[in-house]
Amino acid sequence: MGEWSEYFEDFPEEDPANWVNGIFNPELAARNRSLDHKQTEAKKSANSELNAMIVKAKSETKARSLLITEDCPQCGLQELNTYKISDRFYLCECQDCGIYGKGTSHQIALKNTAAAIGESKDWRDGSAY
Ligand SMILES: [Zn+2]
Repeated sequence: MGEWSEYFEDFPEEDPANWVNGIFNPELAARNRSLDHKQTEAKKSANSELNAMIVKAKSETKARSLLITEDCPQCGLQELNTYKISDRFYLCECQDCGIYGKGTSHQIALKNTAAAIGESKDWRDGSAY
């Protein structure tokens, strides 16, 4: 890599990155690369803004939908929140150990949460919601 970049410094016209549409134009090529970079950065920042909005909306929905807090089947602490996100979407998430499960009823969500014991699932790494 180092050898090639030294070679291209001596022979810039040999560097394919200095050509735009078949024309040797290192300045324009550099400008295009920097524009591409800026667009990529802008997209990244728009995505992270969107993700932050989604995370916020989800946590607001959860705050509104908290049904009950009970004993966690995995860690035993009274930290298992069950959310009723919709009529047929119940979600359990332990605020301590992170285990989670979902189901179409409170009972099914609890059962699926208990079934995940030992899988070291953590809703904070990517939940079912
Ligand atoms: Zn737990």
